[in-house]
Amino acid sequence: MRRCRRCLLPEAAPAGKLDAHGICQACREYEQADLEAEELARRRRVADLEAALAACRGQGEYDCLVNLSGGKDSCYLLYRLKAEYGLNVLAFTTNMNVPPAAWENIRRTIERLDVPHLVYTPPREFYRKLYRYLLQNQEGRGAVRTVCYVCAPLFEGYALRVAVEKRIPLVVAGYSPGQPEPERMMYEFSRELICRTDWTPPELRASGLFSRQELALFWNPLEYPVGTPFPRYLAPFHAWPYDQAEIMRRVVELGLAATRRTASPVHSNCPVNWLLMYSDLKHLGYNPYAPEFSRLIREGKASRSYWRWAGRLADWMIRRRIFLGREVRRSLAWLGLREQDLRITRLPGAGPGECPGVQPGFVPVQALHLPPSEGGHQLEAAQRG
Ligand SMILES: [Zn+2]
Repeated sequence: MRRCRRCLLPEAAPAGKLDAHGICQACREYEQADLEAEELARRRRVADLEAALAACRGQGEYDCLVNLSGGKDSCYLLYRLKAEYGLNVLAFTTNMNVPPAAWENIRRTIERLDVPHLVYTPPREFYRKLYRYLLQNQEGRGAVRTVCYVCAPLFEGYALRVAVEKRIPLVVAGYSPGQPEPERMMYEFSRELICRTDWTPPELRASGLFSRQELALFWNPLEYPVGTPFPRYLAPFHAWPYDQAEIMRRVVELGLAATRRTASPVHSNCPVNWLLMYSDLKHLGYNPYAPEFSRLIREGKASRSYWRWAGRLADWMIRRRIFLGREVRRSLAWLGLREQDLRITRLPGAGPGECPGVQPGFVPVQALHLPPSEGGHQLEAAQRG
């Protein structure tokens, strides 16, 4: 498979079309981008973040809640907020598909930083049912897009719920630039999403497979009494300068991760992700994380030489289902699925023309989270806000 010489983006990925010099469309567009304006926007986010970190002090039981997944970014984020900013932080982990390397990072980080740590274990059977359903009914952009777009909001919602209960004014996540889906959030979840939107995916409700209790796992601010204060939810690495290789080095140096191996996203990733990548390699022809990492490489935030071999090695393990790729078989067995059950059955998001001015493949957040029949709720909620 041909890849961009500069950022390693596979030719089959969106914006991956190579020119005569082997440079992808995304890199060519980046050359034309207004970097000064972007840097200015980043500095504005830094100023906002500093203000938010100052304002959260002493407001609730804790100053802020930090999502701790055990990946290098969340460990390093916790370190900065506790050790450098001196904040009274609560670390929060959702105990669902946390791989051993990530648990090891979590244990080391909590011990080293001596912060209180809350672990929430959601019902595992619900996830089994959820993954089974979504993998057999993937949308056009593949398994990672289909599953993570439902799974990540669940995790985010659990954190929001804890923050509301404990009156913590700020929730932070170690999302790197480009994570999560930029149309869901860039640096901050909008107040509209946090204070007025039911996150229950309409297609899950419509499937009839999930109980009321299961659907109630999704964040829904409308369940809370009028006047409930909702926290802000920020991604500080969208503001601070981000350097993936440097963070991998720092977490090992600080003792938050034992080795560079456990600090690597390849090892701290959710195990089901291997199956999602397997499905996408098969259906889309490229690794679904390639655009994210290529973007970091293009912007000088990740090491090209590291991903040149780590990316290829990961794809090779997944395709052959060996070494870490054995997780593909394990997940299939856990879910009771066969390879041929991994299917794309739905069109990718909204098509061109449906949303004027919006590029093909873009799904407005509302289209995913707000069933039109619930317009009444929306109105009621808007009046609260
Ligand atoms: Zn490129």
